[in-house]
This record gives sequence, structure tokens and C-alpha cells, in this order.
Amino acid sequence: MCVRIIAPFLLCCALNAADQSVARAAERKRMVEEQVRSRGVTNQAVLEGMRRVPRHRFVETDMQGQAYEDHPLPIGYGQTISQPYIVALMTELLDLKPGEKALEVGTGSGYQAAVLAEITTNIYTIEIVGPLYEKALKRLREMGFPEGRVRHGDGYFGWEEQAPFDAIIVTAAADHIPPPLLKQLRPGGRMVIPIGPVHATQRLVMVQKDPDSKVKTRSVLPVRFVPLTGGVDRSAR
Ligand code: SAM
Repeated sequence: MCVRIIAPFLLCCALNAADQSVARAAERKRMVEEQVRSRGVTNQAVLEGMRRVPRHRFVETDMQGQAYEDHPLPIGYGQTISQPYIVALMTELLDLKPGEKALEVGTGSGYQAAVLAEITTNIYTIEIVGPLYEKALKRLREMGFPEGRVRHGDGYFGWEEQAPFDAIIVTAAADHIPPPLLKQLRPGGRMVIPIGPVHATQRLVMVQKDPDSKVKTRSVLPVRFVPLTGGVDRSAR
């Protein structure tokens, strides 16, 4: 009797889960076409990564219905998961190759790290807000992110033991490029960072460290990010 009731219930749940995962994959495909590719992102590895990573699993349950919409979403503690287009654009600008080593400052939900990990598994990420770090660590672990790559700390100072990095992505805005990050970028490396005043419009800046360690910067587009906190507040301006 009990088996007769439970078995159809379990089958119904399994079908429902399968339906949802098919529907989410369709939402991701649409997100990539309408918000990312249409705005000029062409790197196939980036587009494929964005199609694969289940963005809805990086936000709270009550936000999941909006996970594939064209805007950032709150993740708690005054922080946000960036708009899908911005995640894709920053990933494309880094021009990562499989096997390269990259550092993300500002793990937040863990979504950007998961997208980067679709291109190279050698990703390190740092988050300053303890509870966000805990949640992102759990999610990323569940999705197979290697151990020892997510750290709770102040990313202004980078991750010295793991330096140098081929690429560094900073997902919070500062009024200058943190010198420790520049130092930890290997010659020939790339950094993407929002630079400008906090709580206002900043510029997304692409930093290139030449093989002879000369640094060039170029402004890509106006953006609005939450502020980089921690060491940046104590640094000389
Ligand atoms: N990349 C994130 C994602 O995919 O969800 C979004 C990042 S959110 C826009 C910026 C994050 O940077 C916040 O989680 C914030 O707590 C973190 N942050 C700010 N200052 C930081 C610092 N000095 N070191 C590490 N993380 C920092």
C-alpha cells in the first residue's frame, strides 16, 4: 500500500526535477543568445561555459526565478551576483587558456569562479565576507571545484603563495589598482578590474603586463560595482 503511494510520488518528483533542469538549460541558452552574444561576446569557450553553469544555483531560492534575467541580483550582506553580460565580458577580456592560473578577488556567490573554471580548472578565489565565503565554498565543492582554491580573506593583498597568476579578475570596485595584485600578475598577464569612485559609475579597466613587466591599461566600458573593501581602505591614495 505504502509502496504504491510512494513510488508514483518519487517518479513524479524525478520527472519534475528533470523538467526543471531542461527548462533551466533552455533559459541559459536564451540568456547567452539574447544578453551575451548579441552584445558582442564571441569567445566560444566563454559562451559554452555560460550555457553550462547553473546560475540559478548561485542565488537564494526566492531569487531563482530571476537568475537568468538581464541584471545583477542581491546575494545578501549588501553584495550582488553580477549581470550575466558583465560576467561573460570580463571572462572574455581575461582571454584564459586551459591550464592557465587565475585569481578572482570577490568570490561573492561563486558564479564567476564557476564560469572561469569551465575554461581552466586552475582558479583561485578570495572572499572577504565570512558567510558569503562559507556559502560559495559549499556550492563550489558540490559542483566539483578542487579543494584549497577558495579562501576567506582580503583579496586586496592577492594570494601570494599561489602567485604568479596568468590572469586576475577583481569583481569589486577600487579607486586604484591594488599594487599587490599587479605584483602577483606574471609578465604577459592580464587583469580586469572596475576602477573609480565607490557608489558611482566606474570604468572597467583592462590591465596588460608586458613580457618586460611594463603595464598598460585601457578603459573598456562604464560599469557599476560594489566597493572593494579591506586593505584598499587603509592604502595610501
Ligand atoms: N564574483 C561574484 C559572483 O560571481 O557572485 C560577485 C562579486 S560581488 C559584485 C563583489 C564581492 O567582492 C562581494 O562578495 C564582496 O564581499 C567581495 N569583496 C569586496 N572587497 C573584497 C576584498 N577586499 N577581498 C575579497 N573580496 C572582497
